[in-house]
Amino acid sequence: MSRRIVVAIDGPAGSGKSTTAREVANRLGYLYLDTGAMYRALGLSLLRSGRNPDDERQASACAREMEIKFDVGEGSQRILLDGEDVTDLIRTPEVSDAASRVAVHPQVREVLISLQQAMGTKGGIVLEGRDTGTVVFPKAELKVFLVADVDERARRRRDEMLARGEDADLRVLVRQIHERDARDEETQLRSGEWPAPDTIRVDTTGMAIEDQVSQVLSLARQRSVNTVRR
Ligand code: C5P
Repeated sequence: MSRRIVVAIDGPAGSGKSTTAREVANRLGYLYLDTGAMYRALGLSLLRSGRNPDDERQASACAREMEIKFDVGEGSQRILLDGEDVTDLIRTPEVSDAASRVAVHPQVREVLISLQQAMGTKGGIVLEGRDTGTVVFPKAELKVFLVADVDERARRRRDEMLARGEDADLRVLVRQIHERDARDEETQLRSGEWPAPDTIRVDTTGMAIEDQVSQVLSLARQRSVNTVRR
């Protein structure tokens, strides 16, 4: 019998997590949860109201007050912050930076992690982020850690930005990715070993999206047949 399991996909920016996680969730008929979008929405909310993302007290108060909803529209998921569609607004480099700065605060993480855990208690979910296999669902039946070469990750970001009609400078993107990687890694290592020792590492450099999706899908199908939910 197959069970509705928890699939945790972690990895750095531009490693292919979002596209892979969204498609795997879609094909399995599971809920898709982009945990990074929650840190981004918080970063946006703070920047807009002139509050400081580096101030833990202000950031955690805002995390408790804001309402984030994931609206499953036709083919794409929209992110609503206090009722406003911010799906595109949270993808700018300024918001990426603010998201990774708010993410260092333990009080912020506590609020967002409990919201994430509440969405996955019944299984049947694909989460993507940094700590979904270590802290959010340490007992996830399948954990995958996607990595890719930094230049390729910057090129993917640039292509996404160009597709949205924004300017993008590859060298600036490489620098921003290095900065964010270093800060994110430090944040994650504070909670223990990272990535999780039982994660399956997949290098997506030069890999087609369809191949990433089918690799994770076949692992998920095996695990959903072979595991008994704990
Ligand atoms: O995945 P994404 O790039 O959208 O995440 C934005 C930022 O949110 C990351 O740079 C990271 O600092 C933070 N984040 C996190 N834990 C997660 C997901 C994202 O700390 N589970």
